Amino acid sequence: MVSEKMKELGSNRSVIRELFEYGKKRAAEVGSENVYDFSLGNPSVPAPKSVEEKIKSLLETDPTVLHGYTSAQGDANVRKTIADNLKKRFGASVSPDFIYMTCGAAASLTVSLKALAEEGDEFITFTPFFPEYRVFVEMTGSKLVPVKTIDGTFQIDRDAFEKAVTPHTKGIIVNTPNNPSGVILNPDSVKAIIEVLEKKQKEYGHDIFLISDEPYRELVYSDTENPVFLNLYSNTILCYSYSKSLSLPGERIGYIALGDAMAGKSDVYAAICGAGRALGFVCAPSMMQRVAAACDGETADVSVYRENRDLLYNSLTEMGYDCVYPDGAFYLFVKTPTANAKDFSDKACEYDLLVVPADSFGVEGYVRIAYCVSTDMIKRALPKFAELIKEYK
Ligand code: PLP
Repeated sequence: MVSEKMKELGSNRSVIRELFEYGKKRAAEVGSENVYDFSLGNPSVPAPKSVEEKIKSLLETDPTVLHGYTSAQGDANVRKTIADNLKKRFGASVSPDFIYMTCGAAASLTVSLKALAEEGDEFITFTPFFPEYRVFVEMTGSKLVPVKTIDGTFQIDRDAFEKAVTPHTKGIIVNTPNNPSGVILNPDSVKAIIEVLEKKQKEYGHDIFLISDEPYRELVYSDTENPVFLNLYSNTILCYSYSKSLSLPGERIGYIALGDAMAGKSDVYAAICGAGRALGFVCAPSMMQRVAAACDGETADVSVYRENRDLLYNSLTEMGYDCVYPDGAFYLFVKTPTANAKDFSDKACEYDLLVVPADSFGVEGYVRIAYCVSTDMIKRALPKFAELIKEYK
């Protein structure tokens, strides 16, 4: 006998993975150069040179230390470097004693949610959202409550948000720049989130946490400023990952940070350590902790993503596609010319264009195009996109 819930999760691939697997099969049939796979958010630019250099220099150090266990919450020097950098880069006051090293954003989120969740709790997120949030929240026995944003801009609808906050709301998950829309929350949205949370905390007399999921923090291509929630709302739990910024998704490294301003930070941090222990997420990969600290604040060459964004956004818009302008991350969110996004994605497959229907992201009538691919592939795919849209004219 096994857990039916876990069996179901393990047996049904996400729609993204389904398309990715289809792409591999199709490439074997028609050649990989003829398949335009925009399904997966896997960084397409290499990690910065400093990552390689740091790994090489670490390999010269004592292997029993380098590959040994660190403290469960992460190496003390690593946490100090990250805390110092949060101060230097964002003016955020965080003590190394309130940083917890993790295996990427997925672990940052699951540990944070597990640390907070009690029977009957609800966690709000805004549409569109990373589909794994549902899995992560439900794993704790809590309920995910998606709140609609303003169609087309995907900024916060203050009234809809305020109505969704109940005495059961333990926290909200915010993701900016956003996967899948590429949108950065504007100052009005940020203000709405904070004002509503502060009002409701007072009204209900308990904490409501803001979990800020920031794997795309450094992937910003315009002057739009990405909010630093740590500085804006004291009950912020920062969930960070180096997967996208340093192009290290397979190395599984990130962290959780609580700001000095969080009143209950000792209890929250203790619960984070407990959740890490309960989930088996103690001592994040030791060598990667050191690499992350040494390269914290650097990025892979994100100018490639900017070039891809400009090329894809401008070309598709010119062809008549209705695209959301992405300020960051590496996704283009496109309104489908037919109401059913799955039908459109299926039709796109006939042109060997693999684009993800966004229904599982909580929004109907959109597809996500991950442009973390080679610019050359985008150029070769453009005539296919042009043919595809003609079918709907
Ligand atoms: N959160 C968002 C919004 C993501 O897009 C992803 C990965 O694509 C994750 C979390 C998980 O990131 P990681 O690979 O660091 O676990």
